[in-house]
Amino acid sequence: MLKLEKNSIKETFMNNLITYKSNQEKDFFEFKNISKFYKSGKINVVGLQNINLKISYGDFIVIGGISGSGKSTLLNLMGLIDQPDQGDIFIENKKINYNNDRLTTEIRKNKIGFIFQNFNLIPTLTVFENIEYSLLKSIKEIKRRHLIINQALEKVGILNLSKRYPEEISGGQQQRTSIARAFAKSPSIILADEPTANLDSGNGENILEIMKTMNIEERVTFVIATHDSSIMKMAKRKIIVSDGKIIKDTRI
Ligand code: ADP
Ligand code: MG
Repeated sequence: MLKLEKNSIKETFMNNLITYKSNQEKDFFEFKNISKFYKSGKINVVGLQNINLKISYGDFIVIGGISGSGKSTLLNLMGLIDQPDQGDIFIENKKINYNNDRLTTEIRKNKIGFIFQNFNLIPTLTVFENIEYSLLKSIKEIKRRHLIINQALEKVGILNLSKRYPEEISGGQQQRTSIARAFAKSPSIILADEPTANLDSGNGENILEIMKTMNIEERVTFVIATHDSSIMKMAKRKIIVSDGKIIKDTRI
């Protein structure tokens, strides 16, 4: 009996290892010839031009570039909250079909976490409830949901603030809440758009440390848009955009 159990533990371990290895080699995202244009009055404004890009599991990518260069456009396309005008986006080798809304919505909700510059918390809900609200549909069992929320809050170091409302905590703590909210979904990737722009440098560094730890310990893939040079230093891969084009893509 014991031997059998041991074998099955070993088997599970080996299976997990195989999944882990194959995920490691798999690309999560692929952009093929992506362009995006905006209309500003009668003028066509370039958001992105002919972007080709692959993003692998487990990476920690920082996207840099001056204001207006296309960072947010790139993240919004990755997060499937906006559509390209040209080209195709593949997620786990599947082409995103914007007409087949159900699958696209499912990927967006379950595989992708988003962190915003202004935290995007609901002011009338507590820290705990803000996270719970985003999990209501995906985790029906209350006990398990609460366990996951508490684990996420502990991970970002604010378990003691779970009953507070957003206005009763600092900006840094609000951003930790939004990281916990993204993390609690167990996404494959977390996209963060200027996550430290509204924080002082000390709080900004703490936020980055939390993300880096999640990347190392939980293998969550991160793509972070910023023009903050201290964040740039923490990247495994740096992508610089200018006028809607990738002008530099380096691995450290
Ligand atoms: P960044 O995040 O690097 O500041 P954005 O992706 O927001 O850059 O913007 C890229 C370009 O697209 C800029 O020229 C910007 O003015 C333009 N742009 C972005 N969003 C819109 C929009 N909704 N309408 C018109 N132009 C836009
Ligand atoms: Mg932006």
